[in-house]
Amino acid sequence: MNESREYDGIILGSGHNSLILQAYLGRAGLKVVCLERRDTAGGGLSTVEDPRRPGFLHNLHSFYHRALNRMPWYHDLELERHGAVYLEPALNVALLLRNGRSLEWWTDFEKTAESFAGFSRRDAATLRRWRNAFLPIVEQILIPESLSPPIEPERRRALLQRSAEGRLLLAVSELSPLDFVEREFEHPVIQAGLLFFNGLREVDLRCKGFGHHIAMLLATAGKAQMSRGGAAALARALVRAVSESGGNVQLQAVPKKILVENGRAVGVETVGGDVWRARHFVASGLNPVQTFLELLDEDVVPLDWRNKAAAFTFNVIAPLFALNVNLREPPRYEAAEWRPHLKDAFMVILGLEGLPQYPEIVRHHEAGTIPPSVMWGSCPTQFDPSQAPPGFHTAFMWEKLPYRLHGDPANWDREKDRHGETMLRLWCEYAPNLRGAVLDWFTRSPLDTERTFPNMKAGDLLVGAFTHGQVGLNRPFAGAGHYRGAVKGLYLCGASSHPGGNITGLPGYNCAQVLLADLGLPASWAPEPLEKKLERL
Ligand SMILES: Cc1cc2nc3c(=O)[nH]c(=O)nc-3n(C[C@H](O)[C@H](O)[C@H](O)COP(=O)(O)OP(=O)(O)OC[C@H]3O[C@@H](n4cnc5c(N)ncnc54)[C@H](O)[C@@H]3O)c2cc1C
Repeated sequence: MNESREYDGIILGSGHNSLILQAYLGRAGLKVVCLERRDTAGGGLSTVEDPRRPGFLHNLHSFYHRALNRMPWYHDLELERHGAVYLEPALNVALLLRNGRSLEWWTDFEKTAESFAGFSRRDAATLRRWRNAFLPIVEQILIPESLSPPIEPERRRALLQRSAEGRLLLAVSELSPLDFVEREFEHPVIQAGLLFFNGLREVDLRCKGFGHHIAMLLATAGKAQMSRGGAAALARALVRAVSESGGNVQLQAVPKKILVENGRAVGVETVGGDVWRARHFVASGLNPVQTFLELLDEDVVPLDWRNKAAAFTFNVIAPLFALNVNLREPPRYEAAEWRPHLKDAFMVILGLEGLPQYPEIVRHHEAGTIPPSVMWGSCPTQFDPSQAPPGFHTAFMWEKLPYRLHGDPANWDREKDRHGETMLRLWCEYAPNLRGAVLDWFTRSPLDTERTFPNMKAGDLLVGAFTHGQVGLNRPFAGAGHYRGAVKGLYLCGASSHPGGNITGLPGYNCAQVLLADLGLPASWAPEPLEKKLERL
């Protein structure tokens, strides 16, 4: 056997969670290889140059990285030394209304409260009240929970019952985001704006158990940030951190099978016939369908694991459709003529006017049809000119659209440019200068997402729904929530594990804690065990 293909461990897929895991393990002295099917590392940290226009960069997957430079791994792995730079524009989000008004979220809480008060003084007071109530909950419970492997739900509930903060969290969690917003806030624009973040971007707003997501949003100081040089600049920094600690990212290596001997994961065979051997572990950054049903032989996975993997569900409302444009000048929103600060808005939301649009959007997703557009996006080059040639700009708008368009995702290949035109028309209504500023444009459909990243099945960018109990210790499913797989030496480190999708790096961070503990290796960087922290509340 080829000596160079023998490692302490193998990681499948080079998403940011995998790279974070790999870097921590490398620092602990382990020799680890990551196998990636594409020709670039980083998964959803992807920035590409428009092949028709040199120098015009587009972030085809993630762009908004929430509170990224506050993540512990960002500092532990010294990613700024490896080239990462994060920007957090002050006017973080602006919801532009057709009547020229705007609801704004600032990095400065007082300015956000002032914007809310412009719509409803009562809602501004409610915002302040919930922010104050949830600040300690976010800091003492929710952030520690996201930074640790999850604990048993019953034990968690018992620990939370012991403090006023814990009891408030449990009570609010019982609600759906919709229940919470309708109960607490009165103004339809504020209601719609709040639900945008969790209802439209993250979980189904009707889902009980997620009411605290809104309260958390009100209290969290960390706002949307962007990576200078594009999302891929973070991937490059992570790969540098991996290489510095002796790790190897092997591109264009498509795994065919996880090898199991005597009930233990011992290696990976690729489609090209190469065999990579693992002395201690194989970790999968892929989804549970790929890991347990496609890459492991049927006879090595217990039947209940196979059944649970087959029942794993993907979000119906998570797929994104993207319109990307190359520009002579940035979008100039009409609303900025009255309110000049709006020209510095980072994320701009268009087409959202009130609460009744949500059920309509959900109905369209379930029927596989296209709802009237609600879209959001940015012009990255306004904040980072390096993403286009001097004097030029790139920008994008995203919209939630169903994966199974008219019952079949293949319909997207025929429909996507038509829908891109619709989005561009709407965008021009808010920013009329775009009519003359657009050099050219292209679209990406939910089907394109799945083609690029098969782990994002059905275009689900969160790599698994948060419904059906697929949260906490039950993510991806009951019995697999501790980052360990169905056979010895197999681990899970991707977004299908707690705390889930988006660019948080926390599934990889938490998996590193479990894996190093199992190998008896020190992890001085790991936080205090969650149970101990909750016991002190
Ligand atoms: C259009 C779009 C916009 C998004 N915007 C944001 C955003 O603004 N903010 C945010 O936080 N998140 C965003 N996301 C979500 C975010 O990108 C994902 O949740 C995140 O990338 C998941 O990270 P991961 O580490 O689990 O793996 P991924 O980033 O999903 O990477 C998985 C890797 O595994 C590889 N792979 C897949 N199958 C195989 C296989 N069989 N063998 C080997 N390798 C394989 C893939 O090529 C990929 O490199 C967006 C996603 C999309 C699609």
